Amino acid sequence: MTTPVARVHLPNGFLPVGKRHRSVCTCGWMTTPRATEDRALTALLSDHGWTVPICVLCETDHQGYVGRDWFALQREVEILDDPYTGGTFLVCRNSPQSCRDRTDQRMLHLDRTVAENFGIEVPRPRLRVVKSSTDRDD
Ligand SMILES: [Zn+2]
Ligand SMILES: [Zn+2]
Repeated sequence: MTTPVARVHLPNGFLPVGKRHRSVCTCGWMTTPRATEDRALTALLSDHGWTVPICVLCETDHQGYVGRDWFALQREVEILDDPYTGGTFLVCRNSPQSCRDRTDQRMLHLDRTVAENFGIEVPRPRLRVVKSSTDRDD
């Protein structure tokens, strides 16, 4: 069984077709031409769907933008390629301090290799193993 490629689906922009408009998803899918950008966007959301915009690192939910301004959301988040699966995933744009802090906290529970597989530089563990005297070679 193969793992399905995970891709982020969010409105990425519009493509003019004569006087009509297509709405384009971040995965490359696009609607048929519609009379207005609003209608194209509505069609994209209803026909194609969208990914709930939660940062994979710190789990911040950027959903506050849904229904308000999809394109403002793009200034909050960033879609990165996963070189291992060929998919994409969503993180806070430019790794703000709040994202790093929360990621640090979560790293205590998150498997490091998962983050490393995403090609993300994860914070180095701050705890060191203090060797007891019995572990010493001398
Ligand atoms: Zn899509
Ligand atoms: Zn984040």
